[in-house]
Amino acid sequence: MAIFQTLYQEVISFLGIGNLLELYRTGNYSSLLTFNGILWVISPVIPLLLLIEITRALIYKRFKIEDYKIPFLIFVLNRFISRFISIAAIAFCIGVFEKIAPFQTTFTWYWFIYGYVIWEFAHFIYHYLGHKVRIFWCLHSTHHAPVAMNLSVTYAHFFLEAPYADVIRTSICILAGVNPPMLFLIMFIDGTWGAFIHVGENILPDGRMGFLNRIILTPSYHRVHHAKNPEYMDTNFCNLLNIWDKVFGTFQPEKKEVKIQYGITREMNPGNLLDVYFGELYCLWKDIRRAPGIVNKLLYIVMPPGWSHTGDHKTAKVVRKAYEEEMSAAAVS
Ligand SMILES: [Zn+2]
Ligand SMILES: [Zn+2]
Repeated sequence: MAIFQTLYQEVISFLGIGNLLELYRTGNYSSLLTFNGILWVISPVIPLLLLIEITRALIYKRFKIEDYKIPFLIFVLNRFISRFISIAAIAFCIGVFEKIAPFQTTFTWYWFIYGYVIWEFAHFIYHYLGHKVRIFWCLHSTHHAPVAMNLSVTYAHFFLEAPYADVIRTSICILAGVNPPMLFLIMFIDGTWGAFIHVGENILPDGRMGFLNRIILTPSYHRVHHAKNPEYMDTNFCNLLNIWDKVFGTFQPEKKEVKIQYGITREMNPGNLLDVYFGELYCLWKDIRRAPGIVNKLLYIVMPPGWSHTGDHKTAKVVRKAYEEEMSAAAVS
């Protein structure tokens, strides 16, 4: 029966309801008003929304197992390894960088705002590199492989991506003096919102969420980020506040006339776990093997995806420019 016990624990942990169940058992509801109590209530929101999303899709007969299968398999794969390395990486970065930060901030509301702006900046850096440096794209592309948007996409990540993201984000924040408990609070809010922006069209058909679209990064912006349309590629790298996209010129609202096509531009099989997980690494390996000379081989690792030693680049920038020229030529004729 140990297998059922383990399975039960896994389900409870996935749903994030362990603490709430404990609360129900002890009847000590006053702890809901504490800071931890609030975290306990928010934790199950995304897993529950995912269940609602799947149930709705089942009821309306729009459920396609392939839209959920790969993210689910990846979730199982990542469950232990990724989380463990990530926590170790965060602890290591705090230990190293806290000592050399020029100043320290405290746990107050104004330093929370400061911390959040710094966190978004750090997130922008990690995410931008994930799209613009080929080796990092090999890690990040797993998250972009799904061809439909739903909450399970939140869980689709290469297992090394979370540790790498956390090293960059934690280091920048700690170096900028962000208080570690504050950093954990920001990570929690960011993680919850970062999951929610993957909500599918069957729960939230219009991801713009009314007036919120003008002040924060809504699911609509993140849907644009997951699109492979030339107009949308490599935009909206932020998570909750799109300030840094506006600063760095990568801000792109959803256009009514441009229907989002989810996925990545490479020919691939989105239903094949190996292709989703290792496909980009395999392509990089092929390019490196083919490239003449050590310099070209190294350039393949650090240049943006689509860069070619022949000069015939297919980077997002080149593809977008060619598309814009084609559009304006078509408008003239
Ligand atoms: Zn991305
Ligand atoms: Zn995403």
